[in-house]
Amino acid sequence: MTAKDNMFNRANELQDRLSAYRHDFHQYPEVGFHEFRTSARIAEILTPLGCRVRQNVGITGVVGEIGQGTPIVAIRADMDALPLLEENLVDYASKNRGVMHACGHDAHVAIVLGVAELLAKEENLPGTVRFLFQPAEEVADDEGLSGAPRMIHDGAMEGGVGMVLALHVSAHVTVGQIQIGHGPSSGGVDTFRGSIIGRGGHGARPHETIDPIYLSAHVLLALHGIVSRRLNPFDPAVVTIGAIHAGTVENIIPNQVDMIGTLRYTRVEVQKQIHEEIRRAFEITKSLGGDYSLKFELGTPPMINDEKVALLIKQTANELIGAENVFPPTDGLGAEDFGCFSELAPGAMFYLGSKFEADEREHHNSRFDVNDRCLPYGAAILAETTLRFLRKGGF
Ligand SMILES: [Zn+2]
Ligand SMILES: [Zn+2]
Repeated sequence: MTAKDNMFNRANELQDRLSAYRHDFHQYPEVGFHEFRTSARIAEILTPLGCRVRQNVGITGVVGEIGQGTPIVAIRADMDALPLLEENLVDYASKNRGVMHACGHDAHVAIVLGVAELLAKEENLPGTVRFLFQPAEEVADDEGLSGAPRMIHDGAMEGGVGMVLALHVSAHVTVGQIQIGHGPSSGGVDTFRGSIIGRGGHGARPHETIDPIYLSAHVLLALHGIVSRRLNPFDPAVVTIGAIHAGTVENIIPNQVDMIGTLRYTRVEVQKQIHEEIRRAFEITKSLGGDYSLKFELGTPPMINDEKVALLIKQTANELIGAENVFPPTDGLGAEDFGCFSELAPGAMFYLGSKFEADEREHHNSRFDVNDRCLPYGAAILAETTLRFLRKGGF
């Protein structure tokens, strides 16, 4: 491969088109499972490239495929926006009032459309590339399922996928740099809802009641002790209580305290242990004369970057953008449903620098935006990593 026709230079030639794609999606943002215009546009762009296109995969998802046979590489782009009022004054600002691409999924869609264009030009692609345009990364439906498990349910990962790739833009990383590592790179997430049940009565006669607010203080203390006193300090985990509701006025002891919380983990054994410990914390209510109910809603699994895939991305990026621009990720226990795909095939996600220097934009903020210069970097790394995997026939 000569310097001139390398994948990065080819991707750079697509800069204007990828920016235009992103601005278009940015102007018409749609929240999870409502990506009707977005998915129709994607299908319109993929079809003339020679992609075999399947719509309504996972409600509003789109699957495009090029090439034949094995190995199969899947590349995922999430495409949902957030319920936020955009404050940016750019000419491509949201026209859908109260909805905004504030996480950069507009960039993910534009980048993967760029990958489709780059790979569609490859003659005799030695395998299949499947593009997964996924709805609802940020939200779940009534059954607690987000877009990734919905697409998987509709067959998105069938046929023996050999590798699955994704990226996420990062507002804190300089354009031209990426972060990639192996092992856990986001947390598994579950929600718990607990009610502490007492017996209400007059605020002046607490001895005749079983005060659930008093009981809740003991439970809270025990819940906050789980990570610091019960778990191995080498296991990253979080237990957070995000809401507590009880009572109406100062002199009525209520019957019940309701609380809702989130837990994060990176290993299934730790997930099980946290569930047991939360139950133990609620059991305290019984020894103090009360009772409780407790329910867990299982969320997305942790995202574990496969070592071989992470290494392939890293080596490819080293050559395309220079080893001095490839960094390990900063740790965090945020949620990311890409973990559902990478449970089924070796996979990895990398973080793509999309920062505005001296003007950082926080994700999920009404001033969030993506530096368009990042788009060719993302497309080049995904396309070249895919090609290398196909050419060597898998791992
Ligand atoms: Zn987000
Ligand atoms: Zn996101």
